[in-house]
Amino acid sequence: MLADEAAACTACVLHEKRNRNVFARGSVDSEIVFVGEGPGRDEDLQGLPFVGAAGQLLDRMIAAMGYARDEVYICNVVKCRPPENRTPRPEEMIACSKFLVPQLETIAPKVIVALGRCAAQALGVAEVSGPWRGRWGRWRGIPTLPTYHPAFLLRSPEFKRTVWEDLQLVMGRLGRVPARR
Ligand code: URA
Repeated sequence: MLADEAAACTACVLHEKRNRNVFARGSVDSEIVFVGEGPGRDEDLQGLPFVGAAGQLLDRMIAAMGYARDEVYICNVVKCRPPENRTPRPEEMIACSKFLVPQLETIAPKVIVALGRCAAQALGVAEVSGPWRGRWGRWRGIPTLPTYHPAFLLRSPEFKRTVWEDLQLVMGRLGRVPARR
């Protein structure tokens, strides 16, 4: 299985310091996939994406969209924790695309949400510089919306409304109404 291959992967330096490989959580039947950057400390210890503080905020955003926590699919661009949570390097993202690409192709969601500029760039929906969030792009034909990463929102909560507006675009495309707010 792909997850087992990822757990044994030594294709880039990130494997050297990993405790756990972090493949994904959620439903493979999901109509929506959230793609983050890479595992942090909590994720590296637990082997699951978005289980730390940023993950708790992401869970609240997902609930506000009207989804149960395990109804959506969540993964990262890289499956091993970058040291000190640094941004993954291009060669690491390229090495890990052998997991991300089949992962997304298998799920074949109706919409992908790219969390943060790194994920947006990895999915080809953001330029290296300049404005990047809130504009629909496509990853291999799948509508993909880049928005701010929840870890950024923990530092800059004034942007929560902006992200909520982005998520409303996503919900509109999926024909959903918000659970609350
Ligand atoms: N940040 C990410 O990008 N991914 C995680 O899994 C956790 C924090």
